[in-house]
Amino acid sequence: MTDHHRISLTPRRPFGPEAIQLCRQALDSGNLSSVGGPLTARFEREFAEFYSAGHAVASSSGTAAIHCAIGALQADPGSEVILGPITDAGSVLPLLQSGLIPRFVDLDEYLAMPVPAVRAAINSRTVAIMAIHLFGGVTDTAALRELADAHGIALLEDCSQAHATRLGERYVGSYGHIGMFSLQQSKHLTTGDGGMCITDDDRLAHRMRLFRDKGWDRTQVGSRAYPQLGLNYRITELQSAAGLPQLATLPQVIARRREIAARLDAAVNAADGLDRWIAPPGGQASYWCYPFFVRSPRRRDPIASALSARGIPVTPGYIGAPIAQCLAVTAQRRTFGGSDWPFSLAETPPDYAADVLPHTVDALDRVIVFWLHEDLSDEDVAAVCDAIGVLDRAVA
Ligand SMILES: *Cc1c(COP(=O)(O)O)cnc(C)c1O
Repeated sequence: MTDHHRISLTPRRPFGPEAIQLCRQALDSGNLSSVGGPLTARFEREFAEFYSAGHAVASSSGTAAIHCAIGALQADPGSEVILGPITDAGSVLPLLQSGLIPRFVDLDEYLAMPVPAVRAAINSRTVAIMAIHLFGGVTDTAALRELADAHGIALLEDCSQAHATRLGERYVGSYGHIGMFSLQQSKHLTTGDGGMCITDDDRLAHRMRLFRDKGWDRTQVGSRAYPQLGLNYRITELQSAAGLPQLATLPQVIARRREIAARLDAAVNAADGLDRWIAPPGGQASYWCYPFFVRSPRRRDPIASALSARGIPVTPGYIGAPIAQCLAVTAQRRTFGGSDWPFSLAETPPDYAADVLPHTVDALDRVIVFWLHEDLSDEDVAAVCDAIGVLDRAVA
């Protein structure tokens, strides 16, 4: 491949003049702390309104948001949480930090957690189901909410890759007891790093607010009161300033990503030996990224290399292996010091070997992720489609 085939894609620019103006306002005020800061209060209020949620609780990262949600459940150590095996480490680490044991369910052809498999994984120690809305596709959290309610357990939705993503008439995140969002740089709405939880439950919201602020109940006067466990996971006013204006443009961001994905679908369909991702039915995928599949796993890395060589940002295999295989805390049960707590609390800890998740492993062996974003021009998209079209010549 010669150099003149290398294309240079338009970079993403999530922060416009309004964000810059709000950041300046925050700096000018002399206070960047979210404690008493007006911008974080406004960010939380408008985020909650966007999702028609009773409360939004901001935090310093998606991982922190998930930790706040888990902390609010106040589950006994050794309890189990059921979740999907293709996800960021940030979905799993807060469980281990809280003494909870992850139990993974093999994914279906849409890369969603099948409801019957979740039902089969529920046992007497299960305290929550955590749906991961992977790549901006939906897991059927309407059905999972019914399942969770029938068992008296919590439904958590990790919407880090699925901001403003419709399932039926509502956005995902509003089906669960708590919806959790990462606002990390790559996410649809970004503050560089940051997180947000939404809930309609006053008690869970209160506990999450305490959890992200060292467990501190600031309404108490006199000596300090810390009625619950927590950490310092506070967001700052600068992050809220950067994030706030994006709520207004988020629907356009999603619409543009869907439009680009539809064009890429056509290119992938026309290419030999490639399959498009069929986004889960019932939802409107928001395409955090654009995943597609090679039919033969041995073509995955050569095709990804050929696309990279043309300047197209792709990752073969996304996380490469089920997340439990990637993490020493699950693969080797290397947790706290020399102990394997909380696994030591389980009668039979879950099997984290890859071979118990055959569909998931097959999908990871064949997937290539293209890092699409809303600021790509029509010319950019056409160039990527062309590159996909000539892959057969590029990869013998
Ligand atoms: C990004 C992400 C997280 C972690 O978010 P951070 O902000 O990086 O801590 C968690 N879960 C999923 C599915 C993610 O994509």
